[in-house]
Amino acid sequence: MKKLIIGNWKLNPVTVREAVSLARKIDPKPKHEAVICPPAVFLASVQYPRVGAQDCFWENKGAHTGQVSPLALKSMKVKYCLVGHSERRNTGETEQSIKLKLESLLSVGIVPVLCVGHGTTVEQDDLEVTDVIKSQLQFALKGVDASRVVVAYEPVWAISSGNPYATKKTATPDHAEKISIFIRAKFKPMKVLYGGSANAANAHSYLSQPNIDGLLVGGASLLPKDFNAMINLSL
Ligand code: PEP
Repeated sequence: MKKLIIGNWKLNPVTVREAVSLARKIDPKPKHEAVICPPAVFLASVQYPRVGAQDCFWENKGAHTGQVSPLALKSMKVKYCLVGHSERRNTGETEQSIKLKLESLLSVGIVPVLCVGHGTTVEQDDLEVTDVIKSQLQFALKGVDASRVVVAYEPVWAISSGNPYATKKTATPDHAEKISIFIRAKFKPMKVLYGGSANAANAHSYLSQPNIDGLLVGGASLLPKDFNAMINLSL
């Protein structure tokens, strides 16, 4: 069964030359479905069969200085777009703006990748975690056909970026699987991904879980050898 593996480059690299060169090093015909999400300014230059965006605005056009239009992303062959990433929530993204972005993406035919797990802590048990993500999912998916949405469970404390909540710990595959089962049963999304310090060494342990449909990968997606190993894993 093919998994979906999305590489979130975040604000890396910083020149178009480096971005084009990095994309060229990613296997274009991997075993699993691989998507790379470069910074939006490089989307027009980077060549890869499946590209995604890291964020967008909810309006397609008009007087919105500095925003990224979902319709413009669609015209650049963007297939997936992250919404509600914890690094966006850290800068003030609200549940309401996440919902507007998600609906706008659906209206132009881009698959939203709804990230949940901000506000969870490493000390919480599974029930406490499901309480936090349930309210994020209920808000964003109210009145939406969830079968058109990919959900990424990203416990904020497991993300490797050095964000204020990072603990340098990773979620166990068993925990990620249990939360995926909850999301799948309660919301019935298209797919459920796990994200948080996934790398070439631990990817198999997550991807071999039956209810984890793939990975959202940050840091390791900038390392072509590691990312190529992840997108070609035999399960
Ligand atoms: C992410 O940015 O979504 C992420 C999971 O980052 P990392 O893999 O570096 O923890």
